[in-house]
Amino acid sequence: MSVIKGNLKKIWLNRTGVVLAIVCSYLIVYGILGGTKIPGADSLPVSSESSVPIIILDAGHGGIDSGCVSVTGFEEKHINLDIMLSVRDMLTALGYKVEVTRDTDISIHDKGIKGLSNQKKNDMEKRLALFNKYSNAVCISIHQNQFTQPQYSGAQMFYSDNNPNSGVLAQIMQDSFVANLQPDNKREIKSTGNDIYLCAFSKNPTVMVECGFLSNPDEAALLETEEYRSKVAFTIVSGLCRYIEEYCSSAI
Ligand SMILES: [Zn+2]
Repeated sequence: MSVIKGNLKKIWLNRTGVVLAIVCSYLIVYGILGGTKIPGADSLPVSSESSVPIIILDAGHGGIDSGCVSVTGFEEKHINLDIMLSVRDMLTALGYKVEVTRDTDISIHDKGIKGLSNQKKNDMEKRLALFNKYSNAVCISIHQNQFTQPQYSGAQMFYSDNNPNSGVLAQIMQDSFVANLQPDNKREIKSTGNDIYLCAFSKNPTVMVECGFLSNPDEAALLETEEYRSKVAFTIVSGLCRYIEEYCSSAI
């Protein structure tokens, strides 16, 4: 608990509103703010290797790969990184072991690899290697969405059926966005088969969190603020804590 208090103080100095988020997450871990169980999911396998999973966080894109860009020119890679760092800080303060694919604005390809396509391929392979480094990991890849028409908005979770718990995690995360941030969000989680590399080839429960649409001016304006990104981070932490509490052999 003293470690949590120390980390709280540090994070309070750096990120507005995060302390409240951590406290709420802590309450969720202990079931005080628990949610509804996913129907029909009781029979899904529960991790038995370790009492507490390692959480792997991926901030999509980075370096020369900006991802999508908002109408005001804000690049997805920066939003992904900022949200991911807040998620990391909250989970670390709660006592979870967390590893990340990147914590700065870089591609993580090996030095010496020539050509953009080879660098991108190696970058994705290294992200996947971290997702598969542990057999008791829970993996989250953070992205922002875009579409040709600007009216579409709202978070949506993508996953692969290759791991049966990925769909459960995706539904819990989608529910967390509705409960904490977007009560009118009617989007459904989407299984993408082998279309999304990290989801398809991760051996651990894995969800790609598309936090919002940068092609929607109102949602992009929100995502450009630190306050809203902190709320998104808290929403992701809440979902993760609920998943771990309900589907891993024990929580912290
Ligand atoms: Zn992206």
